[in-house]
Amino acid sequence: MTQTVAFIGLGNMGGGMAANQAKAGHVVMAFDLSKEAVERAVAAGCQAASSVAEAVKDADVVITMLPAGPHVLKVYSEQIIGAAPTGALLLDCSTIDVETCRKVAGLAAEAGYVFADAPVSGGTMAADAGTLAFMVGCDEPEFARIEAALEPMSRATFRAGDHGAGQAAKICNNMILGITMLGTCEAIALAEKLGLDPVKMFDIVSKASGQSWSVTTYYPWPGPVPTAPSNRNYDGGFATAMMLKDLKLAQQAAAAAGATTPLGAQTEALYQMFDRLGFGGRDFSAILQLLRGKLDDLPTD
Ligand code: NAD
Repeated sequence: MTQTVAFIGLGNMGGGMAANQAKAGHVVMAFDLSKEAVERAVAAGCQAASSVAEAVKDADVVITMLPAGPHVLKVYSEQIIGAAPTGALLLDCSTIDVETCRKVAGLAAEAGYVFADAPVSGGTMAADAGTLAFMVGCDEPEFARIEAALEPMSRATFRAGDHGAGQAAKICNNMILGITMLGTCEAIALAEKLGLDPVKMFDIVSKASGQSWSVTTYYPWPGPVPTAPSNRNYDGGFATAMMLKDLKLAQQAAAAAGATTPLGAQTEALYQMFDRLGFGGRDFSAILQLLRGKLDDLPTD
């Protein structure tokens, strides 16, 4: 069934996700603060909206893909709730803290909307290909409708639990991702010092027990995985600043819950340093160059 989908936040992830909603035959009303992002969405089959209010006014589904909690709280509380029809399904796919997520869910419920947190895993390649994994926090009876709305962008959709559970799953997932990426980068830097070709190392490790998503889908050394950001000087992809945000969310959650996460803490500290050195806009796999002592070749933003 053709629906009107309002899509807010058309960045590295949202751009491809909105395009896939349009490809599925939906009318996509696209808005971003960046004019260039809106123009790219229009080229991909979406319609330009001049504001959030205009994008959501006739929406059946509203999807947001924004940087962090403060953006999500502001956009929902000031621009979506009240402006979208109350029958519209509100889906926030951004990665944010559980507390803000539950606050937005409460505001939406008070105003009579169905809301879900639906953060994603898979990166920009999966966003473009429509093969993201969604981790949903919602009321159980709403899940089938939410799953159907996410379908054009999704390879797999899981209900993690009630509101906030999707975000909890996401920050745990990304703590694993940050740790495996650092482990992969350290191993490449070591391989190089030992005279082992990092491309040969990929051939072996991608089939051995050191294998992970960071190796097989996102190898930080250029060559073996042509779609990985390492082949384009770590441009685009999943920005270091975004990974740092997620690692901080994991550490805050661990402190609040009394969980022991020493590797998560160390990974956060290293990404914090890399961000402070000016590389917050580079893909997070670029931290390889810090470990290799080759930051001079890496553009800052
Ligand atoms: P991005 O910075 O590329 O995109 C965010 C977009 O939101 C930007 O285009 C920005 O202009 C827009 N925006 C900000 N405030 C806005 C507002 N008030 N109204 C309208 N538009 C606004 O970020 P991204 O990489 O696309 O990530 C988006 C979210 O997805 C983040 O929460 C991130 O943690 C999560 N995420 C990213 C990846 C990845 O690989 N990039 C993977 C999984 C999850």
